[in-house]
Amino acid sequence: MLEVLRKIVQEVSTAPDLESVLDLIVRRIQRAMRTQVCSVYLYDDQAERYSLMATQGLNPDAVGKVSLASSEGIVSVVGQRAEPINLEDASLHPRYTYLKDTGEEQFHAFLGVPIIHHRDVLGVLVVQQKEVRRFDESEEAFLVTLSAQLAGVIAHAEATGLIKPQEGESENERRFEGIAGSPGVAVGHIVVIAPPADLGAVPDKVANDIDKEIEKFEAALAAVRRDIKVVGRSLSKRLRAEEQALFDVYLRMLDDNALAGEIIEQIRNGQWAQGALRNVVMEHVKQFSMMDDPYLRERATDIKDLGRRVLAYMQESGPAEIEFPEDTILVADELTPAMLGEVPSDKLMGLVSVHGSGNSHAAILARSMGIPTIMGALDLPYTRLDGRDAIIDGYSGRVYIDPSDDLRVAYLDIVRGEQEMAAELATLKEMPAETRDGFRMPLWVNTGLVADVARALERGAEGIGLYRTEIPFMIRDFFPSEQEQLQTYRRQLEAFHPRPVTMRTLDIGGDKALPYFPIEEENPFLGWRGIRVTLDHPEIFLVQVRAMLRAGEGLGNLRIMLPMVTSVHEVDEANRQIDRALSELRDEGYQIERPQVGVMVEVPAAVYQVRRFARRVDFISVGSNDLTQYLLAVDRNNPRVAGLYVSYHPAVLRALEYIAREAHKESVPVSICGEMAADPGGALLLMGMGYDVLSMNATNLPKVKSAIRNVTKVEADELLQQVMGMDDADKIHQLLRRRLRELGLSQLTRPVIPD
Ligand code: PEP
Ligand code: MG
Repeated sequence: MLEVLRKIVQEVSTAPDLESVLDLIVRRIQRAMRTQVCSVYLYDDQAERYSLMATQGLNPDAVGKVSLASSEGIVSVVGQRAEPINLEDASLHPRYTYLKDTGEEQFHAFLGVPIIHHRDVLGVLVVQQKEVRRFDESEEAFLVTLSAQLAGVIAHAEATGLIKPQEGESENERRFEGIAGSPGVAVGHIVVIAPPADLGAVPDKVANDIDKEIEKFEAALAAVRRDIKVVGRSLSKRLRAEEQALFDVYLRMLDDNALAGEIIEQIRNGQWAQGALRNVVMEHVKQFSMMDDPYLRERATDIKDLGRRVLAYMQESGPAEIEFPEDTILVADELTPAMLGEVPSDKLMGLVSVHGSGNSHAAILARSMGIPTIMGALDLPYTRLDGRDAIIDGYSGRVYIDPSDDLRVAYLDIVRGEQEMAAELATLKEMPAETRDGFRMPLWVNTGLVADVARALERGAEGIGLYRTEIPFMIRDFFPSEQEQLQTYRRQLEAFHPRPVTMRTLDIGGDKALPYFPIEEENPFLGWRGIRVTLDHPEIFLVQVRAMLRAGEGLGNLRIMLPMVTSVHEVDEANRQIDRALSELRDEGYQIERPQVGVMVEVPAAVYQVRRFARRVDFISVGSNDLTQYLLAVDRNNPRVAGLYVSYHPAVLRALEYIAREAHKESVPVSICGEMAADPGGALLLMGMGYDVLSMNATNLPKVKSAIRNVTKVEADELLQQVMGMDDADKIHQLLRRRLRELGLSQLTRPVIPD
């Protein structure tokens, strides 16, 4: 049974649209369960009806025509109760409604199970038989399991498919929901960017020059053939004959009368070479993975691997070919910091990532660059969108494809409003971040990209509270040398001198991978991350610390910060290494003072050791992004649980208040460098809690300054008091918005969006 289940789910997941998804479902279930009827009814929210969308066994002409009101029929009882109903004879049930034209009167046995996705009943799956009998337990269990697995596929097909436009949308306009990653609005054209050698992410494109595309494909193919022969030969002594034969199988797969022939035919029909390769390879992968024989099934992996190799050669010959329009909206399956750098910055208007969430590092960088961004747009059929018109709304998390003129006009209006507000906020640059009753709140920035420094200075930042050193590490092909690091760090320190610059030691792991130092883990956010990696690799840590110390020579504004600290001994060890680097450098003749060293509090264990840490360091800085994910057990990178990642959760607020109090007991200053400080409401609360410095992205700094300048410290303290007495994050959020509105600061949260 498991095997049948696996096959059905696999086949259905690759069906191209909702209609074929549903059609396949009913056909496969009818066959697997040997029933006479299998049908799917989907619930239409607007009409409040269950419509027959696909059937095997009932009259096919009834599909799309027959429907039941939400109070009619046993199907709607299944939907309402959200549980299965299994009946010997459906016609005896009090809610039985005879559906004319379906021919269902001949069937008695009835089993209906709800199709539920994220608590939403999407519809009902029904099997029926002529006999008067109860479906047995294993049949019921099978259908329930299948329905649970297929719900996601159906929801995705429904959201992606070109089914009827929703109310208020024009004929062609399509709207997709994601997560607001970085505020702002962009109106532009989509460019889909695929990570290297990822077949599934290759977009559809029309071949401009068919002969040239064929030529490119054939060159890549020849290169792969060459590689396989070389590998085959070099392994020939170590492999047995049958293993050796595998290489011949690979070469044959690439023959003209096999994969290659089909690919060339698709190119002749107008698809560009990469798209044709993707189509043909994926189709064969699907066929093989559904085979019963485990040996043949394994061949799916081989074909995919071959496809990837050919693709890699084709991509090598032409990444520079991408032409970015003036109003580029970059779309990727998973945005990476390196991708952000591929588009000339004056052309990059917006970003969309199908995966990832609001606190993924790609989103954090986008916020620091001030580029409107949508994350976790899971249903976006991104491979089909290259070149299309789009609007992205970074306030609500919505993406519109082929928007109507009306919508475009409405959004262009918002863009104008944003520009006006930015101009107004720019006047605050030279003004202090001071409350109306004279309380000074130092506002620093978080950096990582080269462009950040200029933006930070432009916006009047008073220091750098977090320089993410891993970003320059991520956009390279190998570890930078001490000398290279020295130059990068020196630029930051000089540009900001005499203001303080807090450099964090390498914080890789989690969602920050180095291409040349892969860390493969089941559970990367609970794995080898941050200081755990660098203490295990003193050679990496020492080189970095030496580069930082040398970069700071004669400037006196360097601060070093340690990420992901869990235990006191990690601080002691890091301190020892810093001292060692310092004494080595002094021996080498450098004149370097010991910089201030600080610890980040971002692991719950660290919260309860703040005083112990404080006794060992010069400052404490809270990383609320990680602290929130660890306190709430919500992956900051997973869009499926993004709704549970709430910065104003009472537990998070309580922890933040406690940390500030504990650090102050040791007279050690405490700052915050998580995204919460960039939210005007959050900033007011943190000021009330006594944080000594708020460090945030440069984009939001003027907004936060404006909020601070419009309140008194007394008001911020009162707001905090009120919030700390509340026990619901949503209500806290609403209260903060209301308070900002009352203070005349509603424009700092979000503009009014057309619905
Ligand atoms: C944090 O976790 O809050 C933090 C500032 O570090 P990062 O976002 O880089 O993990
Ligand atoms: Mg962190």
